[in-house]
Amino acid sequence: MNSSIVWLRDDLRVADNPALTAAIERGGRVVVVYLLDEESPGSRPLGGASRWWLHGSLSALADDLADLGASLTLRRGAAGTVIPSLVAETGATAVFWNRRYGAVRDVDAALKSRLTDLGLVVSSFGASLLYEPWRITSGSGEPYRVFTPFWRACLATGDPRPPLPTPASIEGLAVDGDALDDWGLLPTRPDWAEGLRASWVPGSEGAHDRLEQFVEHGLALYHRRDEPALEATSRLSPHLRFGEVSPHQVWSRLHEPLAPEAQANRAKFLSEIGWREFSYTILFARPDLATANYRPEFDAFPWGDTEPEHLAAWQQGRTGVPMVDAGMRELWSSGWMHNRVRMIVASFLTKNLLVDWRVGEAWFWDTLVDADEASNAASWQWVAGSGADAAPYFRVFNPMLQAQKFDPESEYVRRWVPEIDSPDYPTPIVDLAASRTEALAAYDAVKAAKSP
Ligand code: FAD
Repeated sequence: MNSSIVWLRDDLRVADNPALTAAIERGGRVVVVYLLDEESPGSRPLGGASRWWLHGSLSALADDLADLGASLTLRRGAAGTVIPSLVAETGATAVFWNRRYGAVRDVDAALKSRLTDLGLVVSSFGASLLYEPWRITSGSGEPYRVFTPFWRACLATGDPRPPLPTPASIEGLAVDGDALDDWGLLPTRPDWAEGLRASWVPGSEGAHDRLEQFVEHGLALYHRRDEPALEATSRLSPHLRFGEVSPHQVWSRLHEPLAPEAQANRAKFLSEIGWREFSYTILFARPDLATANYRPEFDAFPWGDTEPEHLAAWQQGRTGVPMVDAGMRELWSSGWMHNRVRMIVASFLTKNLLVDWRVGEAWFWDTLVDADEASNAASWQWVAGSGADAAPYFRVFNPMLQAQKFDPESEYVRRWVPEIDSPDYPTPIVDLAASRTEALAAYDAVKAAKSP
């Protein structure tokens, strides 16, 4: 009998999973596999917080699959080696997966042609984006560089497809694999994940609970999404990152009848999902987004030497700038940070401390549960001024004014920096006004590089 392999990657769910559905519809038995692949060219090893998340997500997925009659096979190694050997072991005649959009897509393309040459059926599907990046191009056929026309063009193509239902059952084929615990994804000595466990429930059930909670309560407050003390945003980012919920499922839920106050915020919320799409479109065009300036003139930017004490103070939330410290402590404790505060801490690092945005991107990569190869790199470049549709470089966030505006009662700051009024709280490690002036002077190098 024909059996099929479903290779899961950033789509750790059973519902609305086109690759899984295709394998089931083909008939025969289904091998569901996840690879821990840190070897293939273009694959970036996950950071600590993401590894913690992945453990929980795979464990939940294995349970969901077991309920349907299938098991999750775990293997480690380069996809170009592991998938063909799994084909040989199982005698599978088809391989299905959902697409990836970064540099690793070259690995997928090579594997597809190799397996196709061997006579296998190989199909890939769109599952983690509402709009495939190559479909949304400007009049000249180029990818959009500016968000607003990009999102307008997306919406003009019509509603995304409706989500696929959860399969009724799967005729699974169990194959030997690794034990999840042996992958060592969870921290042990020290176990720094207590705050993560208190904040999150990885897996599709946790994702859908979060979505419901947001639609019922948070969405009506979404016009106040810039206030970090409130729970006015969805906190769906890690669930979307690991594909425990698809953007199609989110879109579809948001198009069910909503309370009027929630309905009023729907378009704005969906446009933030649009920023995720935009980030992937940029990554698709520029797979080196996490390492290379999108705007080449920024290659001339004279980043300062990263002073280890400054960097450590930023990472540990003891810069003496309350809003920055609050954000960095929220990140360290929970693996997540509010979007407004991400912009503030990133601006502080790149502009007030003149640290190269790649250093901040790497720290976020290690500490965020939603660390995402597209959104993280695109957002850091956006703040640094080197990215597509970026904030102009001369827009240096003043963290004191930002705090007054978005946290006027200091509720957020006091939550994370309770010692703020004590004499032990440090004075700022840099003079905000003087460092701003220095940053603007450094930017002259970029302007000079840009002018003909
Ligand atoms: P909501 O406001 O509820 O938005 C819903 C969803 O839309 C989010 O879950 C996310 O998937 C998407 N989204 C919202 N804002 C953005 C945005 N600006 N760019 C891209 N997608 C967005 N987001 C990540 O998912 N992963 C990252 O690694 C990441 N790194 C960032 C680094 C910096 C320096 C900055 C400024 C932003 C970064 N973001 C990143 C974007 C944004 O901060 C988070 O997506 C958002 O805070 C997640 O919270 P939420 O789910 O409550 O958002």
